[in-house]
Amino acid sequence: MKILVVNAGSSSLKYQLIDMDGEIELAKGLVERIGIAGSRLKHSAGEKKTEISQEIPDHEAAAQLMLQILQDPEFGVIKSTDEIGAVGHRVLHGGNAFTASVIVNDAAKQAIRDCFPLGPLHNPANLMGIEACEKVMKGTPQVAVFDTAFHQTMPPKAYMYGVPKMYEEKLHVRRYGFHGTSHRYVSRRVCDFLGIKPEGKRIIIAHLGNGSSLSAVKDGKCVDTSMGLTPLEGLLMGTRCGSCDPAVVQFIANNPLKEDGTPLGHPISVDEVLTIMNKKSGLLGISGKSSDCRDIDDLAAKGDENAKLAQEMLIYGIKKYIGAYAAAMGGVDVICFTAGIGENNADLRARVIDGMEFLGGKIDPEKNKTRKEAVISADDSKVTVCVIPTNEEIMIARDTLDLVTTGKVRDN
Ligand code: ADP
Repeated sequence: MKILVVNAGSSSLKYQLIDMDGEIELAKGLVERIGIAGSRLKHSAGEKKTEISQEIPDHEAAAQLMLQILQDPEFGVIKSTDEIGAVGHRVLHGGNAFTASVIVNDAAKQAIRDCFPLGPLHNPANLMGIEACEKVMKGTPQVAVFDTAFHQTMPPKAYMYGVPKMYEEKLHVRRYGFHGTSHRYVSRRVCDFLGIKPEGKRIIIAHLGNGSSLSAVKDGKCVDTSMGLTPLEGLLMGTRCGSCDPAVVQFIANNPLKEDGTPLGHPISVDEVLTIMNKKSGLLGISGKSSDCRDIDDLAAKGDENAKLAQEMLIYGIKKYIGAYAAAMGGVDVICFTAGIGENNADLRARVIDGMEFLGGKIDPEKNKTRKEAVISADDSKVTVCVIPTNEEIMIARDTLDLVTTGKVRDN
């Protein structure tokens, strides 16, 4: 069966068509600037690539264009949309309602809507993507796969915040965690790769990209993760500050600065402070130059002190989470690095594991040169350290296939 994987944002729609017979990627693409001047589609099928610039007023038009290019005589890979067995959608926030992926029906759509306050930027866009595909592919089953679902196994001691309990009971204020599809994929894949079973294993996953999160996975189940109610909590990220004293919000609101560092002269709102914390902080905010780890590395290599500090803060933060999760799980057997930084930045990986001999972690510098699936720890390291490239699309496609063929999701 061919499965279409869709990730809809507020002005974008990413897609990938996968032939599940062999799990082969047939085509992928991105519709950008939906509803904004300059909208376009970028599409590739193997070596063949094309770009179409035209007006794309809404998500339905974007979905139409995606189907059109997938059936294109030159760049397409299918003759008819009937070949698409089902569509799997990435949905950011499933709240407490979803512990696994589901076939989309009216109740599921309502539950996604109910999570709008928890994922105000993403969930409405994700639902738009679902509704657009429903319209242009009438009768094709749609499946929703949630970024939060894998983390729903966390115990209350890990997901509760220490604010009055009624906020959790009445308003569902708690840790949810994100990147769950990636954490789930990597935690399963590393066991297959190492030829071990998840049962009895304590695994720490470091998903390090523009957004970054760590998770602690014991016996195959997530027991803790670094992101929270929103993706702002946890590690220092590309443009997000990660965890800090909540009182910082009040302090900045009362004493805001202009871009040039001089006082703004009047207070700003909590929402405005959160915009600073989400969009102007992290590697960007500390370096003052870039949110991209490659740029930070280049700047640091040239002696830029702020870039060096940003690097050190990120590495120190990852170390602290690894230490915390090892303590929480009573030890650690496997540490996995994944996503853009985790898969590609050997220097950062080495610096994270450096000094972790007390935990049983030691890197082999030669093995660490990899960008592919590999063990990178030394032969005498008690903890197995791995690079496992993430593949959220395949996880979404597998869940989609399982739900439409067997009615339930397999646990891998
Ligand atoms: P997103 O969270 O948007 O999916 P990615 O997983 O693509 O992000 O990660 C983006 C980060 O990964 C950037 O900071 C970038 O510097 C880093 N990165 C991506 N590719 C490479 C590479 N080839 N070498 C070093 N760093 C990389």
